[in-house]
Order: sequence, then C-alpha cells, then structure tokens
Amino acid sequence: MQQTRPASKELNDNDIQALKMATRGDVLQSGDADYDSARRIWNGMFDRRPALIARCTGVADVIASVNFGRDQGLSISVRGGGHSMPGQSVCDGGLMIDLSLMNGVRVDPANRTVRAQGGCLWGAVDHETAAFGLATVGGTVSHTGIGGLTLGGGFGWLGRKYGFAVDNLLSVDIVTADGRFLTASADENQDLFWAVRGGGGNFGVVTSFEYRLHEVGPIVVAGMALFPAERGGEIARAYREIMASAPDELTLALVYLSAPPAPFVPPEAVGAPMIAIAGCYAGGIEEGQRAVEPIRALGPIVDLMGPMPYAAFQTIIDEANPHGIQYYNKSHYFAELSDEVIDTFMAEAAGKTSPLSYLLLFPFGGATVRSLGGDTAMGYRDTAYIFVLMSVWLDTSESDHHIKWSRDVAAALEPFGTGGIYVNDLNDDAPDRVKAAYEPATYRRLVEVKNKYDPANLFRLNQNIKPTPSN
Ligand SMILES: Cc1cc2nc3c(=O)[nH]c(=O)nc-3n(C[C@H](O)[C@H](O)[C@H](O)COP(=O)(O)OP(=O)(O)OC[C@H]3O[C@@H](n4cnc5c(N)ncnc54)[C@H](O)[C@@H]3O)c2cc1C
Repeated sequence: MQQTRPASKELNDNDIQALKMATRGDVLQSGDADYDSARRIWNGMFDRRPALIARCTGVADVIASVNFGRDQGLSISVRGGGHSMPGQSVCDGGLMIDLSLMNGVRVDPANRTVRAQGGCLWGAVDHETAAFGLATVGGTVSHTGIGGLTLGGGFGWLGRKYGFAVDNLLSVDIVTADGRFLTASADENQDLFWAVRGGGGNFGVVTSFEYRLHEVGPIVVAGMALFPAERGGEIARAYREIMASAPDELTLALVYLSAPPAPFVPPEAVGAPMIAIAGCYAGGIEEGQRAVEPIRALGPIVDLMGPMPYAAFQTIIDEANPHGIQYYNKSHYFAELSDEVIDTFMAEAAGKTSPLSYLLLFPFGGATVRSLGGDTAMGYRDTAYIFVLMSVWLDTSESDHHIKWSRDVAAALEPFGTGGIYVNDLNDDAPDRVKAAYEPATYRRLVEVKNKYDPANLFRLNQNIKPTPSN
C-alpha cells in the first residue's frame, strides 16, 4: 500500500545539512546504517522510504523538524510506537518525525500522576507506575505506543472502571504546525486539549503526555480461559450474561483464535479453534476471584485466571502480535451482542484463513460512558462492544486472500453495527469514513480546532480531519 502524496520538493544537501545542524538526534537518509531499521514499523505490510527520518531526542528536535518539514513543503508522518494499522507513521518521500527515542517516564507517586514522552510504549509506562502500585488506562498490548493510542481515545482492561486513556489525560505538551510549543490542559488551550483527546494526530506533535494514576494491584485477578470453538455460541451467550451484570471493575473480552503452541495448551488442542474469555478485575483479589467464578463454572479446558501482577497481564497478548509480519484489520461498533451478532461472528470466524488471525469483542461501558475526565472528542461513548478482526499472516503472496476474507467478515457483520467506528481501527477505508468515528457535532468542532491550529493541514498523514478550505 503506497501513499500517493510524495514530497513536493527535491531536497538539496544544504537543506539537509540545515536540519542536521538544528537537531541533536540523527537525521537519516537512504544509505545510512540505521535508515532501514528506523523506517520499519510494526505492520510489515508497509515498506515506505521517507526522504528523511528525524530521530528526535527532545522538544527542540521536534520543533526544528516541524519547522523544516513545513518550510520545505514536505509530507510529514509522525511515529510514536509505530503501530498504526494503515501504516500512517511512515511516509514515502517526505519527513518521518520519529519519536521512538523520546521514551522517558516520570511517576509522581504523591500526586498520582505520570508524565511520559511522546514516543513511549505502554510497557514502559506500566512498568514504572507498577512500582508504586499505580496504573492508568493503557492499551492491551504493551508494545503499542502511548502516542497514537491515547490521541485516538484509547481503550484497555481498566476502561470500565477508569474510562478511556483520554479520560485520564491531564495535559499534553505539543508542537503545533507553526512550530509553537504549547501546553494543553483543562486550564490552558482548552480547545486544543479537548481535540487531542480523541481527534488523533491532527493538531501537532505531542512531546509528552501527563496522566492521572489509580491504585491498581500490583496483583490483580486476571488471565484467560479457553473453550473449544464448537461451544462458541453457548460460551458467547454466557459471556453476554456475565457482562450484563458485571461490576465496572470487570473487563472481559471474547476472542476467537487458534490455540497457540504454548506450554499451558494440551498438545492435542494446539492449533484448534478456540474461544477465549480474557480480562481482569481492577479491584481486590477476593472480589476478583468471585467475579471470575462464572467463567470457571463454564468448564474451560484451560483456566489461566488467577492472581497475577497487572503489569504482567498487560503483556499476555504481546507475542500474538509480533513486529514485522503482515496485518490487516477491520472493526465495527455494536450497541448489543444480539443472537444475530453472536451467530454471525461465530460462523464467519470459523472460516478464518490463517491460524494467526483472531477476532474479538471488547466491552465498553461503566466509566467509558460516564466520561470522568470531562468533555472530550472521543466519539460514541455509549457503544457497548467494539469488534476487532485482526488478520495475521506471514507469506506476502497470500495477502489478497486474507484481506478478502477480512473484508467479507466485516461486510457480514456490518448490518448489525451502529455505523460508528473507533478512529484507531480505521484502516484503508475511504478517507471520508473518519467522520463515522465522531458524532456530527463533535466532528464539526474538530474541524474548527483544526482550522485554528493547522489550517494548511500540515499534519495530514493520519485519520485526517480536513480543515475548511480557505478561499
Ligand atoms: C497490536 C495492537 C494492539 C492494539 N491494541 C489497542 C488497544 O488495546 N486499545 C486501543 O485503544 N487501541 C489499540 N490498538 C490501536 C492503536 O491505538 C493504534 O494502532 C495506535 O495508532 C497506535 O499508536 P502508536 O503510537 O503505536 O502508532 P504510530 O503508528 O506511531 O502512530 C499512529 C498515528 O498516531 C499519531 N501519533 C502517534 N504518536 C504521536 C505523537 N506523540 N504526537 C502526535 N501524533 C502522534 C500519528 O498521526 C500517527 O500516524 C492496537 C493496535 C495494535 C497494532
């Protein structure tokens, strides 16, 4: 998949030298030793070649890079953790602003806050906060970036108790398209603060995020239970009942997968299609054990539910999502798990074209609906479930086959969806589809903020909120 918008200007050596002089981090070009590793992102489907990669070491480098990219008329992609499904963090021909070296984390245990630089991964944040028995709402795979995930909203295992990642965001430091360094919070640049909490990377490069922390664990009841896929319809209906009366502390996902060759899987079950119920209880251990009892009562063939460090649970599906192989995703929002949704989900999942692919239903609800952090740009908070299909394969010659299957499954489930979608799960959808991630009034307000902070659409290699064209 290639982006169509190339760098609009040939760079000469003097231009490039000017950027090198202005930054402390390396500025890489094709042929440099680290160029190929730096342009690689998590999804191996993308093999793009930026004209320049600015490996920023701090705010000063980001300001210099933004100013350079704008003044040279270059396309700019921003790389946080590099997990954009449609590969938007790497560009062909333009300037890639790579934040991956900006990965410092500072916890303030007394005030229960954490500040993390814009290129951090969730694993770093979880590790540092867990040392104090604290956590914030982060993603479910520890090698995803806090940058893209937070700016799109951010759902995770603590979500029903503490909301989306953006509900816990207290402030951001951000470099805007004109090269200004701003802080956005409830007290400063409130319009910008509202917009970055769900509006994605449209408004600037966030150099650090400050989050509210909560007492979590460090030991919580968490894990996964596996059932044979033949019981899929029955297990999904039982899961629906469990979630219908679940306390906010309990977040459980339903996953259709092939049993991995892991030591905990009986040898005869390896590779067989399975239904997993996975999740955690963000509260006391005894209450947690009681909360997961109904899952045990269903008689799983593998039961890994039990007390474990929250930060360890945050890594349990890391290995199912390795870097550099082929991925394609599809997603919908559902208002309920009707029998039709469950039956269609199970029937379509059974046709999985790769043993590495998986499909999941993840619940929102509780604090995600209540918007504890005030008004944000996160769309459709009243969604009950997000459906995510992750098609995963190794052989690039098979891509068309797996992508076709993914699209077919999404089409089969579409009639039951709300029509809304999570902005971070948009893929190669039509550019206009970004509007489906927001209520119309929210989208209009995002355009107003875009008009104010990025009227020329410098930051457009993202799920783009287009500014109003000027006459
Ligand atoms: C394996 C996997 C698991 C996932 N699990 C979850 C999950 O549990 N919950 C969830 O909500 N989402 C999840 N997602 C989706 C995830 O939120 C998006 O893929 C997100 O874009 C990843 O952020 P990143 O920083 O790693 O990505 P990148 O590819 O680095 O960035 C994506 C986009 O975000 C913007 N961006 C990133 N960092 C910055 C920054 N510092 N300043 C300005 N703009 C920035 C840029 O526009 C960039 O194009 C998952 C994705 C994957 C691949």
